[in-house]
Amino acid sequence: MTQDAPIFDPATWGLTEQQAELSSLARKLGQEKFAPRAAKYDREASFPTENYKDFFDSGMMGIAIPKEYGGHGADFKTYMLTAAEIGRYCGSTALTFNMHVCSCLWSGFLLDTFDMPDAMRAEHNKTREHHYRRILDDGAIYAQPFSEGGAAAAGSKAFGTTALKVDGGWLINGKKIFASLSGHANYYGALCTEISSKDEDPDRANTMYIAVPANSDGVTVEGDWDPLGMRGTVSRNLIFKDVFVPSDAKLMPSGIYFQAAKRWPHMFMTLTPAYMGLAQAAYDFTVKYLRGEMPGTPPVKRRMYPTKQIAVAQMRIMLEQTKSLWFQAITEAGPNPTRDSLLRAWAAQYTVMENSNEIAQLAIRTCGGQSMLRSLHLERIYRDSRCGALMLPWTSELCLDMLGKGTLYESGERDE
Ligand SMILES: Cc1cc2nc3c(=O)[nH]c(=O)nc-3n(C[C@H](O)[C@H](O)[C@H](O)COP(=O)(O)OP(=O)(O)OC[C@H]3O[C@@H](n4cnc5c(N)ncnc54)[C@H](O)[C@@H]3O)c2cc1C
Repeated sequence: MTQDAPIFDPATWGLTEQQAELSSLARKLGQEKFAPRAAKYDREASFPTENYKDFFDSGMMGIAIPKEYGGHGADFKTYMLTAAEIGRYCGSTALTFNMHVCSCLWSGFLLDTFDMPDAMRAEHNKTREHHYRRILDDGAIYAQPFSEGGAAAAGSKAFGTTALKVDGGWLINGKKIFASLSGHANYYGALCTEISSKDEDPDRANTMYIAVPANSDGVTVEGDWDPLGMRGTVSRNLIFKDVFVPSDAKLMPSGIYFQAAKRWPHMFMTLTPAYMGLAQAAYDFTVKYLRGEMPGTPPVKRRMYPTKQIAVAQMRIMLEQTKSLWFQAITEAGPNPTRDSLLRAWAAQYTVMENSNEIAQLAIRTCGGQSMLRSLHLERIYRDSRCGALMLPWTSELCLDMLGKGTLYESGERDE
């Protein structure tokens, strides 16, 4: 099989050797293994278990685990470029992989760029080693259930899920919605609010990021899962009822998540690569289809019609705009971004999430009726790509809100 051309050509975009290698590995896995399985996961709304076995066998499970623990030590940008290649072949695999990898990015690369007292860092290094060993040795999968259906996932309220300090650990209580990988992850990396007594008012500053073992007493998965798109994510509800988790379950030291999220806002862009890949996939589909080269369809060429050429031109322009803005935003990502950089990150997030669906929509219109049959993958790309705009905390709506306010008001400025 000829390997598809990279979304970001290493020489043109100035990728490092590691970025080029990991993206190429992801593209190979995606094209050879994930693409042929994607329709089944979508049809059944089932979890891509076989793909995770491939991630494990190829060493990708530890992509963002620091090198000194045996991982690839990918930084934020390297992970983002690699994950986009996965999204190109299976959106659900890329989105769930993101939830897994974020547990390593937050606890690894990000905290390694963060000032912390020595004792806290030493304790964190010891704790994170447990998590990393499970991932690298046993193929443990981590989920990232943050959403609760209230304002917490948007960052404006404390999480209602609580972690009550008890002897040797915490008791977790609460409900998470849209918990991708539910029933399939080995650990749920949940955000909750640490409290020292049951009647304490939750405070956002006490947000804790903790890995709840999926097989603990008191963990249940409930609700059905039959959504429009991203069906393989299996994002059902999670209930934690007096779940005891031991002290070494923390993914970050107490109180650090709140500061880290403020100082490293680009981390919320980690939901975009799945959709960057889908944008490329919709474009790839259209080019092949109009050239009469789409496997499973008659070799009918449609490229000679001027209207089709114009549609493809529009798609190419949108794809180039999306890639360029996204690449710039992930390149400048770092701690304490300038206001201008943060505004650009929101613009990039909005652009990827909206354009991936817009490109897929143009693809269906120009390829025509046969292209939206379920025997082809374009209609799945269209449905999957519609979900990007809904991902908190940077939904398309919230990006517009923040961009508008952030542009017209200096920090602290108010109207009388
Ligand atoms: C396929 C898929 C997988 C997902 N996987 C995960 C996962 O693994 N982990 C996880 O934590 N979440 C996950 N989510 C959840 C996602 O991030 C959102 O939390 C969820 O879509 C919110 O749904 P809702 O209807 O409760 O939104 P609501 O909270 O009702 O919000 C609806 C819309 O209102 C706007 N809005 C929300 N809050 C505010 C506010 N404070 N101010 C102004 N406007 C606001 C936003 O634009 C939002 O899209 C997933 C979602 C999808 C679709």
